[in-house]
Amino acid sequence: MTYVFEPPPVISLWIEGEAARFPVHRIYCVGRNYAEHAREMGHDPNREPPFFFSKPADTLVIDGGDFPYPGQSQDVHHEIELVAALGSGGDNIAEADALSHVFGYGVGLDMTRRDLQGEAKKMGRPWDTGKGFEHSAPCSNLKRAAQIGHPSSGRIWLDVNGQTRQQGDLADLIWSIPEMIAYLSTLFTLRAGDLIMTGTPAGVAAVKRGDVLEGGVEGVGTLRTRVV
Ligand code: MN
Repeated sequence: MTYVFEPPPVISLWIEGEAARFPVHRIYCVGRNYAEHAREMGHDPNREPPFFFSKPADTLVIDGGDFPYPGQSQDVHHEIELVAALGSGGDNIAEADALSHVFGYGVGLDMTRRDLQGEAKKMGRPWDTGKGFEHSAPCSNLKRAAQIGHPSSGRIWLDVNGQTRQQGDLADLIWSIPEMIAYLSTLFTLRAGDLIMTGTPAGVAAVKRGDVLEGGVEGVGTLRTRVV
């Protein structure tokens, strides 16, 4: 096979303690999946089915790399999230089988240009410029589900410059991971290498250059990035 130019490299995440890496296919993100966060964004958490948006795989920031403050925004927010990484996929996956498709878990940040997202919401336009920009998906190393199990409760938090900004518990997810996978697989063909960012707890707020963001999910891991 020849190409007219060098194809882009495979995007991948480290797996904790292993040499082989996890090749990333797509990044799906779930919106408003913690009641307190849905409320802080002005929505009723009880009425909505899950909804999804996505980020290109090459927006990942790995190895604790810096987060460069993006252009065209004065209001970039942090959203700390549990990331589920699929080791296999399919269409119309049954809820009861969903967890068997999860390879492992990590901790991610769904960085958001809130002003552009807000404008898009108002105009009925897509969220891509608010959500899918360069470096918008810092992510930790993965841990295998075989090693840590499938977390369904535990603290999720984000500190900015040592002060706790976001805090929640996985037990408060409105849509559980099996429910998300089952529903998502009715909309898209899920594949090995897909990441699902599972939504953020309350406390989202703006970042500025120089901020150090350190967050984690109990039993899964931690993530650190600096806004530059
Ligand atoms: Mn999010």
